Amino acid sequence: MTPRRILFLGPPGAGKGTQAARVAERLAIPHVSTGDMFRDHVERGTELGRRVKAIMESGEYVPDDIVIAMLNQRIAESDAQKGFILDGFPRTVAQAEALDTELGSAGLDAVVLFEVEREELVSRLLGRGRADDTEATVRNRLEVYEEQTAPLVDLYRRRGLLVVANGAGEIDAITDRVLEALEA
Ligand code: AMP
Repeated sequence: MTPRRILFLGPPGAGKGTQAARVAERLAIPHVSTGDMFRDHVERGTELGRRVKAIMESGEYVPDDIVIAMLNQRIAESDAQKGFILDGFPRTVAQAEALDTELGSAGLDAVVLFEVEREELVSRLLGRGRADDTEATVRNRLEVYEEQTAPLVDLYRRRGLLVVANGAGEIDAITDRVLEALEA
């Protein structure tokens, strides 16, 4: 059976968000993006949005306790009981541990790692025109990823959950590759 509790992992610009939306639709499970949730708070001008806006614009990570609380609340909702694709969470070891606690013994079914060359990442990010995609921020986001999030790759590989997907090429072809890899 196709896994239903799925994590998409990879550097900023690797296409996780685009692919998560498409794969989630095909599998009829929710796409859970902490970045989208924060951007929504910023747009609506909520208290949380005001707290995270400057952090996001600098390319730093929002403090773990804030992200973890928001994510736990989201995956407790009824639509997430049949599964989900997590996109952009966990991003630190502490977040991964919190997710383990939240999911209990069943845990995640699969982790898809998106691999894209660094140069390609930078050019994609600079072309995207998001508020947190200026040159200095892009550089910082990639550094923060290497420092804080890349260690999760080994953690999930050791658990035998990791599936590697080449994130270069046509959007449709990548979606097909990811779906195939998940079904294998
Ligand atoms: P994203 O759209 O996933 O690239 O997220 C945009 C920004 O939101 C990130 O650069 C962080 O500032 C913040 N963010 C999203 N998810 C997390 C997370 N799991 N931990 C910390 N910060 C996050």
